Amino acid sequence: MPPGSKITDVLIIGASASGLMCAIEAGKRGRKVVVLDHANKAGKKILMSGGGRCNFTNMDVTSENFISHNPHFCKSALSRYTQWDFIGMVNDHNIAYHERDLGKLFCDESAKDILEMLLTECRKVNVKIHLNTKIDEIDKTENSFITRTGNGEYRSDSLVVACGGLSIPKMCASPLGYRIAEQFDHHIWPTSAGLVPLTLQNHDKEQLEGLSGISVESNVSNERMAFNKENILFTHRGLSGPAILQISSYWQAGEAIKVNLLPELDVEAFIKARQTKQPNIKLKNLLSEILPKRLIPALFEEEIIDKPLQELSQIRISDIAEQLQNWKIKPNGTEGYRTAEVTLGGVDCDELSSKTMESKKTKGLYFIGEVVDVTGWLGGYNFQWAWSSGWCAGQVV
Ligand SMILES: Cc1cc2nc3c(=O)[nH]c(=O)nc-3n(C[C@H](O)[C@H](O)[C@H](O)COP(=O)(O)OP(=O)(O)OC[C@H]3O[C@@H](n4cnc5c(N)ncnc54)[C@H](O)[C@@H]3O)c2cc1C
Repeated sequence: MPPGSKITDVLIIGASASGLMCAIEAGKRGRKVVVLDHANKAGKKILMSGGGRCNFTNMDVTSENFISHNPHFCKSALSRYTQWDFIGMVNDHNIAYHERDLGKLFCDESAKDILEMLLTECRKVNVKIHLNTKIDEIDKTENSFITRTGNGEYRSDSLVVACGGLSIPKMCASPLGYRIAEQFDHHIWPTSAGLVPLTLQNHDKEQLEGLSGISVESNVSNERMAFNKENILFTHRGLSGPAILQISSYWQAGEAIKVNLLPELDVEAFIKARQTKQPNIKLKNLLSEILPKRLIPALFEEEIIDKPLQELSQIRISDIAEQLQNWKIKPNGTEGYRTAEVTLGGVDCDELSSKTMESKKTKGLYFIGEVVDVTGWLGGYNFQWAWSSGWCAGQVV
């Protein structure tokens, strides 16, 4: 063994959500744990998550909230370490939190509280975190992994790959996890940006340009999935907001998405009722009662919205309702990894144990968190997957 080679039971690459959870659990079992990260700070994504308040889990977590080529894989981990277990840890640390729409739980104060909780737990069980460490090479002997880094060499019984996906390279994302998987002969499902804003074709961009900042509660769907009553946000680049981020994970290039801008209303019946009561009111004035004013001229010709209701035929009214409740728009693309919250695809679940996250190909090698082909919806599900998969590996590494 070269002089200065550091020996540890467990080496974890990635000092963020899944890696820190795994480190805590392994440390509690008395294992000697070192966590390496090339970043200058642990948990950067935790700090930037949930608009700085970290949507750390959800009240209602099922396998239906995840996308994977193996939709059953996540069930075991999610049931062994549940949202209630994580909430218990948050309560033990007296972190104040609140529930928002659709069961999302956020810190009252700051995402820093969640990171500080994890780092405190790491300290309690003597986990060592080495930052600013560039991983050069990984080798395997019969009984141990050798990880060569810019700060020397580590030998470990177990190697845990917790280095996340490709989203937000500025926050230190890298493909290292996939490269390690490939090195050990794992199949990787093609990766793409998920939970990401959609960009528009030029003609739609020109038409919707002036709407930047407007947000509307909508139902958004495609052939395979529907997300109801979440906001869409018009931006200067295209479409964003929770409903768009959700559908983006199911969107395929060239496909249109459908938007119902008024999911709670029967628009046709609404216009007809007002046609009888107020035949002289202009369509644009009526619509501005139920939609942001700026949106109306972007969606309809001036000639139509200037008409008084009494001049609208039945067919016209149906067309207006269709445009508002079944608006079809074909995005040009996504904003890509630069702004994506997650990476779809990744290490094939079929080659991992669903109970422990251990590789079925190489004993002692584990993959946890986002690097695995399990991607959650928006709403705290991605962190719950990081906590659950990290916890499971932490019981056995
Ligand atoms: C802007 C934003 C907001 C988000 N908000 C939420 C939210 O509110 N709720 C939610 O559930 N999810 C949210 N997510 C998703 C969530 O952050 C991730 O799914 C989660 O952090 C994944 O955890 P992980 O441990 O697998 O990977 P990461 O948290 O990505 O951690 C990977 C770690 O590995 C390190 N690493 C990477 N490459 C190397 C390398 N080559 N060498 C050494 N170290 C390396 C990184 O520096 C990093 O510390 C958000 C994501 C983003 C980008």
